[in-house]
Amino acid sequence: MLIVFIGPPASGKGTQAKRVIAYLGIAHLSTGDLLREARQDGSPLGRQAAQYMDRGELVPDSLVIGLVNQKLHEPGFRRGALFDGFPRTIDQARALDESLSSLGTPLDLVLELQADEKVLKARMHKRALEESRVDDNPQTLSQRMTVYYEQTAPLLEYYRQQGKLATINAMGTTDEVFERIKKAINARRKGPSVAAGSAGAIKQ
Ligand code: AMP
Repeated sequence: MLIVFIGPPASGKGTQAKRVIAYLGIAHLSTGDLLREARQDGSPLGRQAAQYMDRGELVPDSLVIGLVNQKLHEPGFRRGALFDGFPRTIDQARALDESLSSLGTPLDLVLELQADEKVLKARMHKRALEESRVDDNPQTLSQRMTVYYEQTAPLLEYYRQQGKLATINAMGTTDEVFERIKKAINARRKGPSVAAGSAGAIKQ
């Protein structure tokens, strides 16, 4: 199964992604992780990406798309993958659709983690105090939130029109949210796909 995970900062994406890949036995493709690795290795791509990451901005599409396309050609990914933090722009989504369609393995499902902005801000604040990620300081986090609503949220409509979007209520305990995610996955595994363009995306 090929799944895209979309959600604002502090929506619990990282925690739930780990559970989903263990549950389905699929690969995990996190562009945030790949970019942090490239950065640590000091590669030219890593150095270019760093300046955007530190400002809480998106790394240019061409860099990220190139990185993902390389990974897609590794055999493990075609058997199933969770795309975490990618795509984040419409151009990235189109590029992913093109790559997957040329491989003959279209996306199955897009999971949107949704939570009230107030809840997210409280979680972000807590995380900024507890974690040491360079891009988790309050200013960068709030920039990442703005970037999410401006550049990534429009993707939801793109996938809704493809009939692939399932919106998950991401408020509650980690277990509660994971149960909702499993329901959406299992509904997609069993059921006929939702007709493209249908008004009602699946809501868990
Ligand atoms: P994440 O760990 O997914 O929150 O990503 C951390 C940072 O890496 C983001 O704030 C962006 O600067 C960059 N990044 C990760 N994924 C992408 C992407 N798909 N497109 C552009 N920038 C990205």
